Amino acid sequence: MRLVRSVADLRALLKPLWNEGKRIGFVPTMGYLHEGHAALVRQSASRCDVTVVSIFVNPTQFAPNEDFAKYPRDLERDQALCLEAGADVLFLPEVAEMYPTGFQTHVEPGRLAEPLCGAFRPGHFRGVATVVAKLLAMVQPDLAFFGQKDFQQTVVVRRMVRDLNLPVDVVVIPTIREEDGLAMSSRNSYLSDDERERARCLSQGLFAAEEAFRHGERDPEQITTLARQAMAGADRLQYLELVDAQTLEPIQGPLDRTAALCVAAYVGATRLIDNVVLAPTVGEAGLNVSLSPTHGD
Ligand code: AMP
Repeated sequence: MRLVRSVADLRALLKPLWNEGKRIGFVPTMGYLHEGHAALVRQSASRCDVTVVSIFVNPTQFAPNEDFAKYPRDLERDQALCLEAGADVLFLPEVAEMYPTGFQTHVEPGRLAEPLCGAFRPGHFRGVATVVAKLLAMVQPDLAFFGQKDFQQTVVVRRMVRDLNLPVDVVVIPTIREEDGLAMSSRNSYLSDDERERARCLSQGLFAAEEAFRHGERDPEQITTLARQAMAGADRLQYLELVDAQTLEPIQGPLDRTAALCVAAYVGATRLIDNVVLAPTVGEAGLNVSLSPTHGD
């Protein structure tokens, strides 16, 4: 596995591979990697000739009051995980490499960036879209891998790729969870033992809603209430919303389309997010509905 820190070195390394028509897979991350990231890397390694992983804690997607400075970092462990999962190139740009003096051009996502996390993290998805667009331009992958864990991010990135005609296929893989259901996240390392115990309630609430949905519940209010009741162990729910999986608009009336139940909550001082996708069967909704979140648009 090669470590590369500059865009120039990355291009020099990738150029022959582009020219040879190698299939390149790309996994952008912020590091402090866990099995969720490893699943993305493995997926890429199994489908591509070359897998590039980036680790970059992107300052422009953090608000001034957020955890940019204390975001966990452990390069040695990340390197071992990437190697084990099958990465070929680890790209580790510095902030000055990504945002040199005079940087002033951004990707501005539209309405999809407004609800859910966008409502509580102004500018977050502008930062995400900009850095992902830059990384895609640097790596020029055939496939780029993202986790369903950050559901709104996958929708915003897919839309950007489509709107800007970026020549890449976006692949979304399911959320990888701890044994008790908690979605794996670099931020789980912030949790105390008591908080870690209470954090389980978020996935439990989502699973309860999923179970009710599977048994035929189609009332958004009922589904959301069931989840909310199970989430009492969180200190504060920032949002819990059932939204159309493609438009991210709230579901009004009976659930007849693929939807995502999305939550953001504080457990102690740590903000956690999670979601489940609820897809009506073909028989119910007709063949117009895309059942696979991987190919949602
Ligand atoms: P991050 O390092 O948190 O920016 O995440 C990098 C990529 O890994 C994003 O596409 C995330 O959605 C994905 N990811 C993070 N956690 C998980 C998880 N538990 N399961 C699957 N993918 C994940």
